[in-house]
Amino acid sequence: MRESQRKERSWVFSADLASEPSFGLLFDIDGVLVRGKTPIPAAKRAFQKLVDSNGQFLMPVVFVTNAGNCLRQKKADQLSHILGVPISQDQVMMSHSPLRMFKKFHDKHVLVSGQGPVLDIAKNVGFTNVVSIDMLRESFPLLDMVDHNRRPKLPSSPVANLPRVEAVVLFGEPIRWETNLQLITDVLLTKGNLSSPYESAHAQQLPVLACNMDLMWMAEAHSPRFGHGTFMVCLESIYKKITGKELKYEALMGKPSELTYHFAEFLIREQALERGWREPIRSLYAVGDNLMTDIYGANLYNRYLEERMSRSSTKALANLVRGSGAASSVPQELDAESGWETELASPSATSCKSILVCTGVFNPHLELPRDASQCIKETVFHGHRDFRFDPALVEPERIVEDVDAAVELIFQMEKFGSAV
Ligand SMILES: [Mg+2]
Repeated sequence: MRESQRKERSWVFSADLASEPSFGLLFDIDGVLVRGKTPIPAAKRAFQKLVDSNGQFLMPVVFVTNAGNCLRQKKADQLSHILGVPISQDQVMMSHSPLRMFKKFHDKHVLVSGQGPVLDIAKNVGFTNVVSIDMLRESFPLLDMVDHNRRPKLPSSPVANLPRVEAVVLFGEPIRWETNLQLITDVLLTKGNLSSPYESAHAQQLPVLACNMDLMWMAEAHSPRFGHGTFMVCLESIYKKITGKELKYEALMGKPSELTYHFAEFLIREQALERGWREPIRSLYAVGDNLMTDIYGANLYNRYLEERMSRSSTKALANLVRGSGAASSVPQELDAESGWETELASPSATSCKSILVCTGVFNPHLELPRDASQCIKETVFHGHRDFRFDPALVEPERIVEDVDAAVELIFQMEKFGSAV
């Protein structure tokens, strides 16, 4: 029955342009499609409904994960295997993916911090002059002194004169936190020149770009584990203690940052374009298991889209009043936007709805809080320092059992396939 419905639906879409999708889907991975390394059974069922008989998606789909210690292709291969449908790397968005938009840093000498193939990842997103913490350590052996066993045995001096570091990119939590904390602090306080003494605290801070702000994450253990957000708390505290100033970020990416959703929406538009769908993608649905990342992020982006819409209509009205022309045309948002915003162009979406599933960190056995503000107090807000706690942002639009139920709900809301 379902098979015939799917075939019929795919026929309708290829034959009838009026039935092109006007919505796109954003899926979190951990806790929605997999739990640790184990696939969640509902995921396979859900994805059978999203593709036609040739395995082609019926609407744009992007996987948005805060993971960042591997390349997109590896994640795409894992997902294809788990879901039983072909997933391309262009559908996968890691926490570091938006770095591709920061072109002004791509040719600068950049220090990267994290673990896994960080040099490859940095090159993959566009950086050309990358130095790792290990490379710095080898060049300046006197700097990493916490572990007595790793201190240089003989007096030594800098081995090679590396070029001055011009920006710092924090990919994810490193292995030896003390080494990274020490060397990143050194780089920041010497303005990137480790051969020099610390500069005055009044000097301008080097740009820092950070990916994945998750304070903690759920692995196989009963209690959550330290994430990259915890490492960032350490770095921010040390920097503030030493300089008396807040560490400033050039950009924060990964859920729940707005930038992440701008980029995900851009990938959705790219997919629609590639498929030749002319209908603009108006609605986004973000399916996730975490109130503080998936739900907060989707709601934050939805708020941006709503504000943008109301700004557009105010401008259109002003144009109409001035008689300056087409009130019907959507204003080109180039006025206040620059940098990565212009790289991505204007969104076509007008809403981003958050859907919470109960297969991950959100515990379905605990009664759902009637008011999220009652259970998440500001004092225990686990979001990043630069994100304000706002109870309205952690309220999901809808709550469903699993990703299969989420897909059914979205089809219903979009009246998708109902005419078939
Ligand atoms: Mg998750």
